[in-house]
Amino acid sequence: MNSQLNKSLIERFSRQIILKDIGTIGQKKILASKVLIIGVGGLGSPVAEFLSRAGVGTIGIVDNDKVSLSNLHRQSLYTSLSIGKLKVKIAKEEIKKINNNIKVKTYRFRLDSKNLKKIISDYDYIVDGTDNFKTKFLLNDFCLKFRKILVTGAISKFDGHIFTFNFENKKIPCLRCFFQESNIEDDLLNCESEGILGTVAGIIGSIQANEILKKILNIGKGLDGYILILDLLNLNFRKVKLKKRKNCFCK
Ligand SMILES: [Zn+2]
Repeated sequence: MNSQLNKSLIERFSRQIILKDIGTIGQKKILASKVLIIGVGGLGSPVAEFLSRAGVGTIGIVDNDKVSLSNLHRQSLYTSLSIGKLKVKIAKEEIKKINNNIKVKTYRFRLDSKNLKKIISDYDYIVDGTDNFKTKFLLNDFCLKFRKILVTGAISKFDGHIFTFNFENKKIPCLRCFFQESNIEDDLLNCESEGILGTVAGIIGSIQANEILKKILNIGKGLDGYILILDLLNLNFRKVKLKKRKNCFCK
């Protein structure tokens, strides 16, 4: 999207432009930003929606799935009319309804190292909205290699985890410092077997979008080197320091 502000854009974003930390300079940064969202499910839906509303100029969405009936309690971009249709197609239509000027690129595939390598350079910020550790590790490794900013979300039952990895800074710990692949069963985050409350997905996805906007604007206190753990059943929110693991992949 053109990052120049005309009268209509100033009105559209007026309520955030008046924020001291944003202003017209911040809004231009948002308009010029490029964000890649991996997975437009429970987490990716609010991420795509709020980043679109905030004015992110280029949004890439990766997903290979079609909308199913059991997605509707939490995946807020979709309705009964979306069932059986490709998520990337519906997500693009919904983003365009919010703001037709956003450049939306859709990638209908299951993410792997080959296709990720082809597209990652086109984006500055990556959002992980996937539900499995295999893809989370893949994103961790590529974002580290290409020095990207990665915001990872994970949800299960009533709980959510959020990580922000600013790999522009080589010293920060990575996902592998916290989770060791050998200790993880791939279906650990599987909503099918574990269950998930829809609002939990909405809250964690919204925090991921919030973290991305803060990174674009370079404002506030980030989560670099920390994990945010939310127990939404008992309302315990904890920030835990991540330690760099000796001999980790990220050393
Ligand atoms: Zn590491």
